Amino acid sequence: MSGTIMITGCNRGIGLELTTQFARDGWNVFACCRNLERAAELKSLQIKYPHIQPIELDVTDYEQMISLGKALEGVPIDILFNNAGYYGPKGMAFGKVDRNEWRRVLESNTIAPYMMAETFCDNVAASDHKLIAMMSSKVGSIADNRSGGGYVYRSSKTALNQVVKSLSIDLQDRGITVIALHPGWVKTSMGGPGALISATQSVTALKEILIHVGQDKSGRFYNYDGSEIPW
Ligand code: NAP
Repeated sequence: MSGTIMITGCNRGIGLELTTQFARDGWNVFACCRNLERAAELKSLQIKYPHIQPIELDVTDYEQMISLGKALEGVPIDILFNNAGYYGPKGMAFGKVDRNEWRRVLESNTIAPYMMAETFCDNVAASDHKLIAMMSSKVGSIADNRSGGGYVYRSSKTALNQVVKSLSIDLQDRGITVIALHPGWVKTSMGGPGALISATQSVTALKEILIHVGQDKSGRFYNYDGSEIPW
């Protein structure tokens, strides 16, 4: 299968790997990143795969997002992959939480992916595959929270999961599937060098879900290995 995918946060980490693998598989990739000037790896990838279209997009800049939506009016997008995310400063334990940073994390991880879905849902509805994937995290699972802490990042992904569930209901009549994904603990700048898997391993597995998921699985939360994660 191939088609068109739009991915956010494509200049590094999991987003860059998603771009690489989908481009290699023959997909047209709208590769969004916050600052194109600083996206050297993405630019060299585009030379190898000219069907990558790098696009400058800060996902929290809604004017920029709406302009992009207008520029792409009528263009089908088979998969909208909201990958961009922000952890916030490390060490924000109980009693050490910075409220402004918490707002920034919520803006990036919860509100921005919702706004992407609102802006590009017509493009997704016009496609064959009709999938919106949200990069969540297992630490957003309330059922899985046995260690406490992580107020800022955890709450942003828990809230994102609720966005996924509501979107799956609201967009059902348009044939759109909406899922939340956990990529594993991945060796990136966010995951750190001690993480368990590489971005290549994560994306290779995530792709299986992205390609095979159907509307009967909409509104669910999947680990990268295809197993379901309790909310
Ligand atoms: P990463 O290496 O830190 O990359 C984060 C990406 O998000 C970067 O491209 C960054 O762009 C982009 N980004 C952040 N805020 C943005 C904004 N306002 N506008 C546009 N782009 C923005 O992290 P990663 O590990 O690849 O994570 C990708 C996703 O997976 C995130 O949603 C993360 O929460 C999730 N996740 C990761 C792990 C893990 O173990 N790595 C585990 C669970 C979930 P800049 O370079 O411009 O900052």
